Amino acid sequence: MTKILVLNAGSSSLKFQLFAKETLQSLASGVIEQIGEETSHASLQFINSAGKSQQISQDLAIPEHKAAITTMSALLKESAIARDIRELAGIGHRVVHGGEDFHQPVLIDQKVLTTIEKLIPLAPLHNPANLAGIEVAMQQAPNTPQVAVFDTAFHQTIPAHSFLYALPFDLYERKKVRRYGFHGTSHHYVGKEAARFLGRPFDSLKIITLHLGNGASAAAIDRGRCQDTSMGMTPLEGLVMGTRSGDLDPAILFYLARESGMTLDEMDEMLNKKSGLKGICGENDMRTITERIKEGDEQAELALDIFCYRLKRYIGSYLAVLGGADCIVFTGGIGEHSSLVRQKACEGLEDLDISLDPTKNEASSTRARAIHHEQCKTQILVIPTNEELEIASQTKKLIASSPP
Ligand code: ADP
Repeated sequence: MTKILVLNAGSSSLKFQLFAKETLQSLASGVIEQIGEETSHASLQFINSAGKSQQISQDLAIPEHKAAITTMSALLKESAIARDIRELAGIGHRVVHGGEDFHQPVLIDQKVLTTIEKLIPLAPLHNPANLAGIEVAMQQAPNTPQVAVFDTAFHQTIPAHSFLYALPFDLYERKKVRRYGFHGTSHHYVGKEAARFLGRPFDSLKIITLHLGNGASAAAIDRGRCQDTSMGMTPLEGLVMGTRSGDLDPAILFYLARESGMTLDEMDEMLNKKSGLKGICGENDMRTITERIKEGDEQAELALDIFCYRLKRYIGSYLAVLGGADCIVFTGGIGEHSSLVRQKACEGLEDLDISLDPTKNEASSTRARAIHHEQCKTQILVIPTNEELEIASQTKKLIASSPP
């Protein structure tokens, strides 16, 4: 009972990470990919008894999540990191959509399962996979406390004037059409880590968090409570992303339907998979885009400019929402590693007391760090995100407070 397992079940993948319960030190992490295809790939990286990092992997047919969890258990047993998943202190599950029902992580019982199921229409791609992961884990470790941590929960403090769209009000009442926001676990984690870095209480700070990965979102946090976020009813709204458009005029879709006969499914595919950075320059990976820019590729530069301009617009609007910010936090693969994106997003904001120190911005590191000019009031931080650690930490907290 000394370990906590974190599970992130997607439609065709299962990511998992094992933590020591007391220290929350990571002991092993793994992934099972291509679930449901002819050959699936399972791998586990762990620290062996000699204190060295070791990897084991396997290619085999894994038809569904039940088999995936069985394979995960076998890998953990083979590594001698966890002999039996029934002996874990707790299992934390990432759940994408908690609707308006979940404002914080919860211990999973039948009522919670029914509610997650009820929310499937709001997240038809994610919640069924998350639910499958939970159900199998509950069957295989029936006496182990299981916790659900929702991507949407941290954003449930957003006030109505910000979460409501200016649509007929009964769409909210009957169909729950509203902004929910996503990446909440990451925004919450890096917000708290920023406060820790600054040596100030989280609930005393105004923070703008920028989670820039393949998906990207911004959040405005006022003294520990989220006030606004850029993703909306779905993860399509807001910033420009790898393959997603982010904000656009909805009437473009009526125009395309009338003028080129595009169907709803084609538009869905275009906005989610063929737009964003990829739509502009044919490439969604920021590393490749940066390389292409160095070689003088103007289309790649245009994609970067559109990405950074949208980011700056959100920084500006959240400065207005919060009435200024104590700090701006960059995180996610792009936020943590692309000095070029950080530089372009902050460029020209000096009169707002936001200014990067170029040397600090260029220095590469995997640690939390400050990258602003020392005399600036608004601190600019790079904080590596760690959603799995946050889920493990929330799971630890809940199992400690639950009756045995
Ligand atoms: P996900 O949202 O899938 O978790 P990540 O947070 O890992 O994704 O972010 C992936 C993005 O981070 C990709 O666009 C990748 O190119 C970018 N990225 C990773 N490392 C660098 C780097 N050194 N410089 C620029 N971009 C980077």
